[in-house]
Order: sequence, then structure tokens, then C-alpha cells
Amino acid sequence: MSNKKRILTGDNTTGKLHLGHYVGSLENRVKLQDSYETFIILADMHAFAYPKYVNDPETIRDSVIQATMDNLAVGLDPKKAVIFNESAVSEIYELAVIFSMLVSHNRALRNPTLKEEIRDKGLGDNYSMGFINFPLLQAADILCVNADVVPVGEDQLPHIELTNEIGQKFNSIYGAVFKKVDGMVGRVKRLVGIDGNAKMTKSLNNCIYLSDTEQEVRRKVMGMFTDPNRVHPTDPGRVVGNPVFIYHDAFNPNVEEVADLKKRYTQGLVGDVEVKEKLYLALNNFLMPIREKRAYYEQHPDEVMDILRTGTSKTREEAAAILEEVKEKMRFHRF
Ligand code: ATP
Ligand code: MG
Repeated sequence: MSNKKRILTGDNTTGKLHLGHYVGSLENRVKLQDSYETFIILADMHAFAYPKYVNDPETIRDSVIQATMDNLAVGLDPKKAVIFNESAVSEIYELAVIFSMLVSHNRALRNPTLKEEIRDKGLGDNYSMGFINFPLLQAADILCVNADVVPVGEDQLPHIELTNEIGQKFNSIYGAVFKKVDGMVGRVKRLVGIDGNAKMTKSLNNCIYLSDTEQEVRRKVMGMFTDPNRVHPTDPGRVVGNPVFIYHDAFNPNVEEVADLKKRYTQGLVGDVEVKEKLYLALNNFLMPIREKRAYYEQHPDEVMDILRTGTSKTREEAAAILEEVKEKMRFHRF
């Protein structure tokens, strides 16, 4: 085993990955894969927590492959990073059941991200036990490899906090097994949606996907929400909080162009169309190499399967060792 620190992070397998995933987490994964031992989880058990997917195992399965290809397309290197799917690592479920004994029902419900998801996904009171246990299962994902760092979007920080509570509680009752985990938020903590919603998220259908074609990106950008109070190009517009400019700042490397557009926008000297055209070009340049790499993996599905199989068996080895320690500490199976 190497003495590098460990990363564990990943994605729900509820569709393809989008620009929000990129700035929130993927970018850091790629940057850190040389200096950390990196585990990328495709959370296909978590996907069943959502009413929209619980009846749709085919979509969940397909999303494992899509999200794996997205990770590879942005530059995760299967020689460096271990990529695996959650449902195949049954040690995670064992840990999750154990963790459920250490968290009170009230504590589990006191989670702002679960509340947000109930609202955004329109769950009402129609959510499963699995949904409430979602953060506990996530704690098991993280702790099954005893990760040090978890690169995530800001919405995931409450889950990291719970992970640390669980780890500490376990250690204090049964003996030290788990390390303290640090969440690492990306360069944009929470990317807004193209509809102006506070978060780009699959559930709200307000995403630009990493795999969108040029035409799709163009259509989405041209239809983007901007300053609602601006009717004519000659009206002075607002740049702050304007999604089009948030995206320019995040994805347009030409800072002079962005500064010039902002200046003209606030003076009423540029129309939305020009601002959006330039954003489209910048996004397209950003997405081009990602699309090319993705096309390679789309044409080599066997390679993708191999990467997942290898990653899963490596993760199982690690998780089995940690679960052994846990069981030892809990005085299990010594009869
Ligand atoms: P879902 O609607 O199914 O919850 P999602 O779009 O929120 O999907 P997840 O799979 O839950 O995606 O998130 C994977 C990772 O990407 C998490 O670390 C999450 O914080 C991050 N992330 C997702 N959306 C954004 C966003 N808009 N801005 C920044 N980070 C994001
Ligand atoms: Mg989410």
C-alpha cells in the first residue's frame, strides 16, 4: 500500500455529468490524481434512493457507464485512479448498517441537503428509508477506503460533517479505525443552472452536459436566463448574479474579452446575443477535447468495463481489510 493520502469522491448514477460536476468536483479529481491515491465511486446503490429511479434499474446501469466515460473524458487516468461501482462492493452495505446504529433518527433528518433535495426533487413526504439513509451510505463509501479528502460541491458538505461524526463516534466507542475526512470544494462551489436556479442539477433539467453536442450547447446557451430586468440591449444590465457572466467567469479563459463584455453590458452597449455567442464559443472550446476523449471510450466499451471491473476488485480488497478491523473492534464473528 502506498503512503499517499487518499481521495474518495464520485457521482450518483442518475444520468450524465454536467458543467456543475466539472467545476464542483471533477476538475479537482483530475488535478489531484497524481498526488493522492484516488478512488472514484459510481454510486449506483445511492441512485435507488430516488423515487424517479427506483423503478428504473436499466437507467441506473446505463448511467454507471455514462458517468464512467465522463470521468475518463475529463482526464481521470485509469492507471492512476481506481474507478468502481458502489453496488458491487457489498462491504459498503455492511458498514452502512453498522453506521445506522450510531446515528439518531433526529440527527439523520437534520440535514439541509436532504431538505433541499426533498424540495428540488418534489419528493413531498414520499421518500424511502434509503433516502434518509443516503448520507450514511455515503459515509460508508468514504470510510470503506478510509479516505482523507473528498472533493465535492458545497451541497455535499453536510454529508462530510456527518461522516466525521460517525467516524469519531465509532472510534470513541470501539477503538480507532477511521480518520478525519476533509471536504474539498471546487473553484465554483455551486454552479447555477441555465434557468437561473441556484444549482445546476440533473433533477431540475437545467444542465449543460459534458457530452452535449455543439448544437445542444448552442441552443441551451442562446436560451439562457440573463438579467430579467433588461429588455433592450441599450438598457444597462446587471453582471453580478447573472448566469451568463457566471459561466463566462468559469469557462472563458479570455479574461480581457470577459471584462470588456461586462463593461459594455453594464453600460447598455452590448446585446445578450453577442454575450451568449461568445459564451457558446468558449464553452465549445472547453468541451471539444472532452467530447473527443469521450468518443474514444464510446467506441471501446470493453475498455470501460475492464476499468470498472479492475477498480471494483481493488476497492473490495481495501474495503474488506477495513471491515475486518471494524468487526474485530466490535467483537464480531469470534465465536
Ligand atoms: P442529482 O440531481 O441526482 O442529485 P446532481 O446533479 O446533484 O444530481 P450528484 O451526482 O448529486 O449530481 O453530484 C456529484 C458531485 O457533483 C457532488 O460532489 C456535487 O456536490 C457536485 N455537484 C453537482 N452539481 C453541482 C453544481 N451545480 N455545482 C457544483 N458542484 C456540483
Ligand atoms: Mg445531488
